Amino acid sequence: MQINIEQVVLEVIEGDITRWQGDYIVNAANSGLYGGGGVDGAIHRAGGRRIAEECAVIRQKQGHVLPGDAALTTAGSLPFRGIIHTVGPIWKGGSANETAILAKCYSTSLTLACQQGARSIAFPNIGTGVYNFPKLAAAQTAVTSVIQFIRESGPAMPLKLIAFVCFEQDNAEIYRELLQR
Ligand code: ADP
Repeated sequence: MQINIEQVVLEVIEGDITRWQGDYIVNAANSGLYGGGGVDGAIHRAGGRRIAEECAVIRQKQGHVLPGDAALTTAGSLPFRGIIHTVGPIWKGGSANETAILAKCYSTSLTLACQQGARSIAFPNIGTGVYNFPKLAAAQTAVTSVIQFIRESGPAMPLKLIAFVCFEQDNAEIYRELLQR
């Protein structure tokens, strides 16, 4: 399912983000960029050791990545121009700035992608796995934040396709419904 926002295609896809085709994929990483379970584990497994080695270099240079921030590596053996590792908020009930941090994950990742001249990018449903962010609220934050970024960036923005890759069917349904509105 696709919609257009000011020349940019927003797409909802169900599946594994490592099988997507495009320029950059976003990883829902942890602060230490150690690789873990969920989408993080899938990306590290599919891309090979090189991604973890680059994550270690980033960790040595700048320390941990704060929630809401992002770091860039190559995609290892995956066929992407790179991977943007962003750190989502751990859900603590909603009063610990989780929504603003999650929104920042999307805007920071999009900023980084634009700096690289990316034409397409795919996001997983950041925060909604082990970090426990409620799915509907996470999707609303993701969509709002992406649309706001597009509107603020204007026509010079290189990105032409932004995909929400949902591993779980219920998330895909939530995103489809939100984008249809
Ligand atoms: P977080 O720690 O940010 O919650 P998780 O990886 O635990 O990150 O979960 C984030 C989302 O990624 C969840 O919706 C989960 O179902 C999804 N996910 C897990 N594996 C993949 C994959 N291979 N491709 C895309 N999404 C995935």
